Amino acid sequence: MDLSRYIITQDASELVAEKRLTIVFGSAEVAPFSKTGGLADVAASLPTALAQRGHNVVVFTPLYGHLDPHQMRMSRRLKPLEVPRQAKTQDKVEATLWETRLSHGVQVCFVQADDYFGREGLYGYDDQSFEDNADRFSFFGRAIVEFTRRHALPVDVMHCNDWHTGLAPVYASHYYADEFADITTMLTIHNLAYQGKFTPDDFQFTGLPKSFADTSKVFDANGDLNFLKSGIQYADRITTVSPGYADEIQTAERGEALHELLSERSGDLEGITNGADYNVWSPDVDRHIEVQYDVESLNGKRRNKADLQHRMGLPIRPTLPMVGVISRLTEQKGIDVLIPTVRTLLSDVKSDRDGFQLVVLGEGNKEYRDQLQQLQQDFPNRVAFHHGHSEPLAHRIQAGADILAVPSRYEPCGLTQIYAMRYGTVPVVHATGGLADTVSDLRDDPDTGTGFVFNELTEDAFAGALERACAAYRNYRRWRPLMVRAMNRDFSWDESARRYESLYMAGIRDEMAAE
Ligand code: ADP
Repeated sequence: MDLSRYIITQDASELVAEKRLTIVFGSAEVAPFSKTGGLADVAASLPTALAQRGHNVVVFTPLYGHLDPHQMRMSRRLKPLEVPRQAKTQDKVEATLWETRLSHGVQVCFVQADDYFGREGLYGYDDQSFEDNADRFSFFGRAIVEFTRRHALPVDVMHCNDWHTGLAPVYASHYYADEFADITTMLTIHNLAYQGKFTPDDFQFTGLPKSFADTSKVFDANGDLNFLKSGIQYADRITTVSPGYADEIQTAERGEALHELLSERSGDLEGITNGADYNVWSPDVDRHIEVQYDVESLNGKRRNKADLQHRMGLPIRPTLPMVGVISRLTEQKGIDVLIPTVRTLLSDVKSDRDGFQLVVLGEGNKEYRDQLQQLQQDFPNRVAFHHGHSEPLAHRIQAGADILAVPSRYEPCGLTQIYAMRYGTVPVVHATGGLADTVSDLRDDPDTGTGFVFNELTEDAFAGALERACAAYRNYRRWRPLMVRAMNRDFSWDESARRYESLYMAGIRDEMAAE
């Protein structure tokens, strides 16, 4: 793993915020060390943006089996972290802590507990979740709390992310209410559909006293042990990753059976749009791509397109629109709509010059995998599918494609369309959640539009938007300004990091007022 471009050892930045805060950021994945989706990107880029504002930030994350601390030259803390479990498996665990740094002095601390994390895979293997996830992530939740309590500097904020960290606010409030009186606990929901639901039997792994088992505190209406619900109940503040999604999750349709609880907590719930780390996702600095380019050197994008066509075994066709998809292969991502839509459109192609080429990079559901392989076989000059996780290929698609398709059924924020714009790759998106918040349609806003948006997730509507995009592509006098506008849209973290900071500060003021 080439970490050189991520790890720039630098002292903490000069303080631009009102107060230098110490923030522990707990996340089950952190790019570039471990990643299944956007959470990993956010867990690296938001802490970096906060550190740039002068805060002390430490990201706390598991040391998974694929990470070798020696090879990655991590330093080992002399003192292990003692994590009480009182759980069925063990009473306490002594975990080794390893450290490295991201840019701007962000510390990343890896907790090594091989029984839980020393294996291939983050949450499961080959479509199958690990059976002991309740045990593994109860441990992780408790470890975040123990780490926060024992941190060398007094911690102001314990910022948790997604269900994997959902029990941390519960442990903090139940076992250490006094110590945490001055610490704001925050939970960010990156995707409400993943709640960490387990059977009542799994409660034994949480180590929580029986009194919890008799109430609805950590169980949901279905009687499942529910990590995310627990976090939502116990965290001081809750955020999610776009304002649109913050509204959607309070409705029965998108609330995944937690909308009532979320509505009850709406005073503490805020949507803050994710930003992009342009040190990693920008064509002028991207080291994965064939040729770097910017708005002034758009020819470079053509060379990346030829390189992508070549690598993916597609005919090199400079003028044929190239559509890219970089996605987990799940129902959420609308892959079930993508496949028949593309099939119909490509079946209708009359000449070599019509239609488009499609490159898909994705990992996930076997059914979609098989269907994409079939699509590739049926249209070998038009469709290329790469199954698996490949960071370099994700960058090459962003640089080489003309259009990025994101037909998600729902999308909390979505990062791929944000990255695409920076690469002059025009997004075609379903109007939902963060996609609707970040892309504006060319037809609605001819002078400011940055992409193509369709309102209903149907094959017809998606096909219509793809056809509009391909038609626009064929008119370079129209296409170029669209690319340039998309490239100039700024989604850097600064404004969003400032909003997180305001929430942290509001939490601190609330605590002071309560004293
Ligand atoms: P989600 O978090 O729901 O998966 P996002 O759009 O927020 O969706 O983030 C997806 C992130 O994961 C992006 O950085 C994207 O490049 C990356 N990604 C998705 N699938 C793959 C893959 N198969 N290989 C490499 N990167 C991928």
